[in-house]
Amino acid sequence: MIPTVLPTYNRAPLSFERGEGSWLIATDGGRYLDLGAGIAVNALGHANPDLIAALTKQAGKVWHVSNLYQIPEQQRLADLLCAHTFADTVFFTNSGTEAAELAIKMARKYWYEKGEDRPEILTFEGAFHGRSTAAIAASGADKMVKGFGPLMPGFRQLPWGDMAALKAAIGPQTCAVMLEPIQGEGGIRPLPDADLKLIRQLCNETGALLILDEVQCGMGRTGRLFAHEWAGITPDIMMVAKGIGGGFPLGAVLATERAASGMVAGTHGSTYGGNPLACAVGARVTEIITDPAFLAEVNRKAALFRQSLEGLVAAHPRVFESVRGQGLILGLKCKVAPADVVRAGYEEHILTVPAADNTLRLLPPLTISDTDLTEAVTRLDRAASAVEQAL
Ligand SMILES: *Cc1c(COP(=O)(O)O)cnc(C)c1O
Repeated sequence: MIPTVLPTYNRAPLSFERGEGSWLIATDGGRYLDLGAGIAVNALGHANPDLIAALTKQAGKVWHVSNLYQIPEQQRLADLLCAHTFADTVFFTNSGTEAAELAIKMARKYWYEKGEDRPEILTFEGAFHGRSTAAIAASGADKMVKGFGPLMPGFRQLPWGDMAALKAAIGPQTCAVMLEPIQGEGGIRPLPDADLKLIRQLCNETGALLILDEVQCGMGRTGRLFAHEWAGITPDIMMVAKGIGGGFPLGAVLATERAASGMVAGTHGSTYGGNPLACAVGARVTEIITDPAFLAEVNRKAALFRQSLEGLVAAHPRVFESVRGQGLILGLKCKVAPADVVRAGYEEHILTVPAADNTLRLLPPLTISDTDLTEAVTRLDRAASAVEQAL
């Protein structure tokens, strides 16, 4: 018999009833060190007092107001995001997938209004932009698209990081180039700064819009507010979600005035997107993460953590191959199935997340303490030893 919850997930036999900072407390009382953070969602940890205050304060005033009216909380968050980024304008969604949908629509509408026929959006293999019909077509990955055709046309995947392929593919028919500066689901695969610069340059030369998906790598994860800042470039359109709500469902599309010029009244909308509760929490998250002192701490801790992880890889050469990523979006490329390390981690009460390309993802809350990072390495070391023993 089919479970009453549609069985689309491979769930671990764990359930949590409470969280405290970087820890999750299971229903049986067990305490788990959380290096997944809801897949980069709980950026400020669990039960963060600042976020509880922001949420409960707003909950006592008004939860939902239609976008038929002005929403001051939304306005405040949009102003904050524009003040700290390349963007001139923001649309709020409830998820990363919805942000991808709008990013694609916005790019297509831009060229429609210009009267140019530009049918193709270039994306990269290993990409993940969500599970909607457009987002799976953008990714093109077999495991996501199989059985869900006919696929939405207009996407073409290039090998990840293949700049020669991009140079050959981009041209006057290119609507946009869309990519994650660091592929998350694809296995914590960062694109070198030089390649991001080159992509920006190729977009400038051909007119193609640059869409960056910073749903997983954005909001302070890399030690800058957004990952593309390290390369010194800016996109035309950017998707944000996950960390921005700190656990409250919230996403956003940020864009320049030019890229957004086709999106006039009536061209897009959302019932819940940008509702007062979500935006009150999102504004608090954004205020905290944009503080230079907060980002400096992320970088300091990330350097310490990375060094310990290099030691871990050296200590377990049969389990791990290398450390990849930046800031606190890190991956351990494995020589074993990463799911085996994840399972061994459960035994040691540490939560990690597998990804493609045989990679184990480590995405702790950005607020994690030095002590908890040291504890994480100790537990990962024990989990790796257990995996080794079973080899
Ligand atoms: C998670 C993710 C998405 C999809 O976000 P949802 O909130 O699950 O819809 C899109 N892009 C990237 C890079 C992601 O990591």
